[in-house]
Amino acid sequence: MARSRVCTTLISQICVEPQPTGLRAVYLVETQSEQQAKELSRHFGDFASALKSYQLSKGKLVSYAVQLRGQDSSILDEIESFLKQNFEFVILHRAFDALIYDIVRELCKDSGSTLAPVPKCDICGKPEPFPETTIRFLDKENVSLDTRLYCATCTAESARRSNKEFLRALLQADRSDFRTLQGADLVRYRTSKKHIAFRIKSASAQCAAS
Ligand SMILES: [Zn+2]
Repeated sequence: MARSRVCTTLISQICVEPQPTGLRAVYLVETQSEQQAKELSRHFGDFASALKSYQLSKGKLVSYAVQLRGQDSSILDEIESFLKQNFEFVILHRAFDALIYDIVRELCKDSGSTLAPVPKCDICGKPEPFPETTIRFLDKENVSLDTRLYCATCTAESARRSNKEFLRALLQADRSDFRTLQGADLVRYRTSKKHIAFRIKSASAQCAAS
């Protein structure tokens, strides 16, 4: 079992933060020059009010994973036709899944493009540009010590009747060893934000840093 680099004795608060969900897609675009790649990145910046974007590759093959902020999926087609007017080779895949990620990886290899690092789910290890749940560990001074990310599938599998049980299930399933935290006494407290936050009451946690 992998160990988290965070020293669990320093953790005094844990925040469970559900992230916005939405329809996902991937755009693959072949660019002819650095100038074109810059233009493309500007276009995706312009779409920011409608969707979150995460650049998966750069170079000749530029690809973006996107997640819609709203319900209206017609924007995906609008972006596709807009891109097709400006670039020769455009693919729209209406999901972010292993299939499209393998295609991006293969095409990057073939075209000498660079695959960007993508965050991975801390339970199943699959690439996840838009995690469904994050957990943040904070010290006494509210300084963020570490963040763990979980995909939609792993979030669903850890669903429990209470938030505390949900947090414990995530920590148990996490690829890092958080056994010392699981035994700690968690006390729910209210924050101004919508986050689900817990304070660690007992000091039974030990340093698990490697
Ligand atoms: Zn997962």
